[in-house]
Amino acid sequence: MTRVGIGYDSHRFVAGRPLVLAGITIPHSHGLAGHSDADAVAHALTDAILGAAAAGNIGRLFPDTDPRWKDADSMELLATAHELVRTRGLTLWQADLTIIAEQPKLDRHLDAMAAALAGRLGVTAADVSVKAKTNEGMGFVGRGEGVAVIAVATLEAR
Ligand code: MG
Repeated sequence: MTRVGIGYDSHRFVAGRPLVLAGITIPHSHGLAGHSDADAVAHALTDAILGAAAAGNIGRLFPDTDPRWKDADSMELLATAHELVRTRGLTLWQADLTIIAEQPKLDRHLDAMAAALAGRLGVTAADVSVKAKTNEGMGFVGRGEGVAVIAVATLEAR
């Protein structure tokens, strides 16, 4: 049995926070605003994994009204969500992500992001694809207001 889930997340740029994507701190003038570390890559993939298992979403599991998740390491939340779906007999087989950001240029960080995600999820880097693109100057991403991420995850029964 194979199940597919999609995840989407976006966060607004804000001064005075580090930019953390897939657990990697990326040099930039701004970070992302959020209750947790605002790692939009980890959040989108968490929702894709939960979605494939019809197990809710990140906001239901880790509500931003709960002080436990203040400044939380979202890679930990991702691993916890994967553990939850594993208790339902499903495990990640493969994931594909697209990060949409006008700045910074992310190309040289993509391999490290894929390796970090794979390491947390117990798959190989070849099972995780992380891509980046701009929004051609259009919309909130194009204006440089924030970052959006789309993730697709394939889970299989163990
Ligand atoms: Mg988020």
